[in-house]
Amino acid sequence: MAGPTHTYEENQAAAARHLARFTEQLMPHIINGEQVASVDGTSFANQSPIDGSDLGEIAAGDAADVDAAAKAAASAFDEWADTPGTERRRVLNKVADLIVDNAHRIAVSECVDTGQTMRFMGAAALRGADNFRFFADRAPAAADGQALPTTDHLNYTSRRAIGPVGVITPWNTPFMLSTWKIAPALAAGCTVVHKPAEWSPITAHLLSEIALEAGLPPGVLNTVHGMGETAGKSLTEHPDIKAIAFVGESTTGSMIQAQGAPTLKRVHFELGGKNPVIVFDDADIERALDAVIFMIYSLNGERCTSSSRVLIQESIYDTFVGRLAEKMAAIPVGHPLDPASVIGPLVHPRHCEKVESYRAIAERDGATVIDGTGWVDAPPGGNFVTPMLFTNARNDMRIAQEEIFGPALTAIRFADEADALAIANDVEYGLAGYVWTNDLTRAHRMADRLEVGMVWVNSQNVRHLPTPFGGTKRSGIGRDGGDWSFDFYMETKNVAIATGRHPIPQLGG
Ligand code: NAD
Repeated sequence: MAGPTHTYEENQAAAARHLARFTEQLMPHIINGEQVASVDGTSFANQSPIDGSDLGEIAAGDAADVDAAAKAAASAFDEWADTPGTERRRVLNKVADLIVDNAHRIAVSECVDTGQTMRFMGAAALRGADNFRFFADRAPAAADGQALPTTDHLNYTSRRAIGPVGVITPWNTPFMLSTWKIAPALAAGCTVVHKPAEWSPITAHLLSEIALEAGLPPGVLNTVHGMGETAGKSLTEHPDIKAIAFVGESTTGSMIQAQGAPTLKRVHFELGGKNPVIVFDDADIERALDAVIFMIYSLNGERCTSSSRVLIQESIYDTFVGRLAEKMAAIPVGHPLDPASVIGPLVHPRHCEKVESYRAIAERDGATVIDGTGWVDAPPGGNFVTPMLFTNARNDMRIAQEEIFGPALTAIRFADEADALAIANDVEYGLAGYVWTNDLTRAHRMADRLEVGMVWVNSQNVRHLPTPFGGTKRSGIGRDGGDWSFDFYMETKNVAIATGRHPIPQLGG
């Protein structure tokens, strides 16, 4: 099992044991069930966010590798799409079983590769298994449609997998997010080419190995590593790939839409966010405080649904911000394998620099910067940052408009409901919104008018897999979860059958 059941020492020993093979030999692509190097023999280095140490060489895919993977996915498609849903269910549930068996291995690998802490990665690995089970159980009914009869025709619909699809994922919680996209695609009957983020390739390789071990036929799930501009771009342009499911930055989503246009790719985008959490003065303040802290300082703040802007009613602003600062100061920052750590190192020195740069940006724009003081057991060369709280901020400041994607919270005051709504909606993003109030009618009004895809009232981000997940504005296109995922990965067909001798217009005598 994963998580706090293991000590720091046990986690370190497991990481050393499981990751040694990647420093000893190249991490290859997995194409058509085979582990293969890149056609041109190139690779790139993977470094630990903890201390910059070497985590091994990764095959660097390009157009030729993507082409081989897309062809493998295309050859495997008909047989997998025609495999009875009950059999797809069996294999995908087996994948889930093996994820559970390997959860600790997956979790420690994820911690070392991304800097996310064990406290959250144990659960994230198990959530990957839940994602597989959830969609596996729906596989037998995925093709079901509707009967839409008229007096003279029987119309019925059915669904079939769209074809081979590309899945492109980011580095923040790569294992969990990959399973969230790949499991419904496989359950629908699609075959997949997965291009994981270059900053966190390890658990994508583990997932691909586990899938083969579970009995997924060769070619059904292929993994090609590499850079976005080469491997990722080739995947979005490949004529055999019918759709792209993408999780990442909004600007990358826009590039992918352009790259996929000549081949008319169907796209599904889960993009960035600058999510407001709105705290009214009648809220349960203690619960609101805990939720705000959790939603920005868990997962290193590298979370699309993070509550990165807290909007606080004027009457409680000073008290609330004071309490936020106290709680933030007590958050332990440290080695990701230490079960006591909440915040670990950020994924990459470049991302670290970006997050740190907002300290100066906040000061220049006139906000106050409060730093966390939590324990930092930081090896030299690691991408550690202390958490930050920006107070006295206005919504037109860059710290309120731009996605920082780190442990940095921007606090803004508001006067009343109309003011809160105007501030909340005055950003380019529209992923999630959180509302804290005990006024029932106000909660409904806010939920109705927030320009976001998901609203939580008096709650943090608690996911229920049958519900739709996704954003509006620059936060995304389309929804995942429940049947929404199958709508993306499948084509709906309508069949109309005349049930009598309805009139047919006679032209030409
Ligand atoms: P990113 O857009 O830089 O990269 C994501 C993936 O896209 C990587 O695999 C990358 O190699 C690939 N890529 C880059 N350029 C490409 C191109 N031209 N063509 C094809 N692929 C390309 O994102 P990131 O920095 O890895 O991840 C952080 C972002 O992800 C944040 O903005 C975050 O909000 C977002 N995110 C969104 C959700 C959501 O559900 N809405 C969830 C998690 C993360």
